[in-house]
Amino acid sequence: MLCLRMPARDYDAIVVGASFGGLAVARQLRGEVLLLDRNEVGAVQTSACGTPLWVPETLGVSASVLQVHDRLVIRTPTRTVRYDLSSVPFCTFDYRAFCQGLLAQCRVRFLRTSVLGIQDNAVVTGEGRFTAPVIVDCSGWRRAITGGAESEARSRRHSFGLETHTPFRDEGLTFLLDRRLIPQGLGWIFPVGSGSLIGLGSYVGRSKLRPALDRLLREHGMSAGSYHGTYFPNRLLRATVDRVFAVGDAAGQCLPLTAEGIRPALYFGGECGRIVQQVLDGARLRFVNEMTARLARYKASKREGQT
Ligand SMILES: Cc1cc2nc3c(=O)[nH]c(=O)nc-3n(C[C@H](O)[C@H](O)[C@H](O)COP(=O)(O)OP(=O)(O)OC[C@H]3O[C@@H](n4cnc5c(N)ncnc54)[C@H](O)[C@@H]3O)c2cc1C
Repeated sequence: MLCLRMPARDYDAIVVGASFGGLAVARQLRGEVLLLDRNEVGAVQTSACGTPLWVPETLGVSASVLQVHDRLVIRTPTRTVRYDLSSVPFCTFDYRAFCQGLLAQCRVRFLRTSVLGIQDNAVVTGEGRFTAPVIVDCSGWRRAITGGAESEARSRRHSFGLETHTPFRDEGLTFLLDRRLIPQGLGWIFPVGSGSLIGLGSYVGRSKLRPALDRLLREHGMSAGSYHGTYFPNRLLRATVDRVFAVGDAAGQCLPLTAEGIRPALYFGGECGRIVQQVLDGARLRFVNEMTARLARYKASKREGQT
């Protein structure tokens, strides 16, 4: 009997990480797609969520916008420079609403589980092993499946950012360049509708930023709410490792000076998703053509046998 079976696999594609990069990949994909994250989508914010306004508008998640910014302010100890952003305004947005909005556009199975690595081409998770011909690592700086031993060297390849929500109101998006505040780094004040996120970033991966951040808050007459922060890459990393693609911070696509990583993760995620879908469509078409040809040969051989 002729057997019309695809090679054994669980999914057409597996996407690891359901933040900016992962959701941008997933929303381009059709078919059987598994989206994995150890947290609920949008539950754990690590970013100040500042990006050009056209980004949420283009992606259909404008409802997540908290505040629009027509001005960028750069403050140094001696000067303050103001840039007019009104022709391309920026915005700050609500992380959960943004991510949930993108998830609603995806036709995928979401599974909340930790990804432990990759073994024999299978993604190993707390919920078992899953296989797919295409795997995309969007797990951020941790590079859950493409990192390997590289993850150990994070301090050399990564900056570190820490921020907190305060009731402080400022005139626009502000960057603070002041060695006394943070050597080899920068500070920021990003108004988010109700108050501001105030943060510090170290280009050399210094993670003990709380004392300096508390000093900055005291200067502005504030005390900290809860802190959040993490590493982010400051150089490009490999975008393919064996048969796995990497996107966003996992591929080091965050811009090193400003720490702008949302736009690159969304852009490269969208591009990667489109390419993966073309590959899957091509593979499916080749498969259908091959099976049709085989079926025709089989029928012809049957007819020959009858005559
Ligand atoms: C303090 C701070 C402020 C920032 N502010 C801005 C800003 O205002 N604008 C901007 O453009 N950029 C900003 N950035 C950078 C930006 O946040 C990142 O570049 C961006 O989040 C990268 O998106 P991503 O999808 O690649 O990775 P991430 O957003 O880091 O997402 C990775 C996802 O993978 C999941 N994950 C990780 N490991 C595993 C695992 N083992 N198993 C399962 N799931 C896993 C995580 O839960 C997460 O959901 C900031 C960064 C920091 C640290």
